[in-house]
Amino acid sequence: MQRRNFLLALSGLAWLGATRSWAAAVQSVSVVQFSDDGKALGRATLAKVSKLAEWKKTLSPLAFHVTREQGTERAFSQPSYNTHQAGIYRCVCCDNALFDAKNKFDSGTGWPSFWQPIAAENVRNIEDKLFGMTRTEVQCALCDAHLGHVFDDGPKPTGLRYCMNAVAMRFIPDTKS
Ligand SMILES: [Zn+2]
Repeated sequence: MQRRNFLLALSGLAWLGATRSWAAAVQSVSVVQFSDDGKALGRATLAKVSKLAEWKKTLSPLAFHVTREQGTERAFSQPSYNTHQAGIYRCVCCDNALFDAKNKFDSGTGWPSFWQPIAAENVRNIEDKLFGMTRTEVQCALCDAHLGHVFDDGPKPTGLRYCMNAVAMRFIPDTKS
């Protein structure tokens, strides 16, 4: 290799290294925290959560498949898909607050459906081209868990339908109502 090319290759490697460490440094995210009875506690910048080995042990195989391998539970397979008890839904992986039961509606799809998240910054939308369809995937902002997809055929006031997997969430009933 000529000296010039060698130097170029070296600078390329340095650049790659810098990019990687920059990406690793962006590992915190701003979310709104909520108490178990659904009260907003304010915005907090938290370190991203990644506990793959622990999740493999503690989650059910289906919850692991859905959240970490972008799976989908069968429609109508989880009895909680259309319950309407007051409370909030947290990420099954990291406890980030995701949805409030008061924004849940019966979409008839067999999956828990909401017209908005509990706080916009607590979830992240990502374009997904799996299976030849362009859809918008919804992830937990704090741990990147796959939660489901969002569609634009929901009810007012947002017109959105957050079509979630029940196994990706943990329901915290509001015991005071
Ligand atoms: Zn999470």
